[in-house]
Amino acid sequence: RRDRTLQVQVIRFAGSRRMVVSRDISQLERLENMRRDFVANVSHEMRTPLTVVGGFLETLTDGLDDFSREDVLHFLKLASEQSTRMQRLIEDLLALSALETGAPAALEEEVDVQELMRAVTRETEILSGGRHSVNLVLEGGGALLGSRKELHSAFSNLASNAVRYTPAGGHIELGWRIDGEGGEYWVKDDGIGVDPEHIPRLTERFYRVDRGRSRETGGTGLGLAIVKHILTRHQGELAVSSEPGKGSRFAMRFPAARLRRDSARPPRRST
Ligand code: ADP
Repeated sequence: RRDRTLQVQVIRFAGSRRMVVSRDISQLERLENMRRDFVANVSHEMRTPLTVVGGFLETLTDGLDDFSREDVLHFLKLASEQSTRMQRLIEDLLALSALETGAPAALEEEVDVQELMRAVTRETEILSGGRHSVNLVLEGGGALLGSRKELHSAFSNLASNAVRYTPAGGHIELGWRIDGEGGEYWVKDDGIGVDPEHIPRLTERFYRVDRGRSRETGGTGLGLAIVKHILTRHQGELAVSSEPGKGSRFAMRFPAARLRRDSARPPRRST
């Protein structure tokens, strides 16, 4: 049972008549706490790289002549990595805020799934840089109705996580299938896996099983939060199964209403 916070207000009328109004503000309080945590997290995430960049600049300004050209280049490279990290964080934050405030994605674009899967597979191979075997399984085709940009981003997110949480030499499978209920996109890896107790929280903003590992591999902790919002906007659902040390399977399921099967493609409307 949750504790409740009640806000009580007494309204007095002329004479001795009074009215007591009480309002349950537990939900408001919870939202306010979440907002506060979020701001604290963002500030912390930004401060770390800024401290590193600031420190390098100060060291170089204080004694440029004490360092060899190689040292200076090394500093600059590290500073540039931190600035890329901040940029990625800001891009993810902006994407998240646009998704949170936007209306549900209109059924506006017909996104050819096989085409999208091929593009995501190519990107995954590039990201992996030959360290993993990446294969594509297509058990059906058709199109998804929605935002091409958002769907691409959600598909890529799961694939890039597989690369980042699978050690070199591992296998990554990207797949798409259609059944009676709708369509499913899945990404399977034989990487580090996730303990089932963490699974329900993975889509929370900044929730990471291993902060160090996520940072090292370029994670912002916002990827799955973005995926979840995109899925909600497309009436889709995320399904995760995983075993630590064995690997994971992240899947997105889309309802039939979001699918346009090849054979059922209606003629183009003319205006
Ligand atoms: P991050 O930028 O940290 O990867 P995400 O929101 O994309 O943030 O993922 C949240 C957390 O979920 C990750 O930090 C990681 O602990 C876990 N995770 C996501 N995908 C995988 C995967 N394929 N294998 C193992 N752990 C994963």
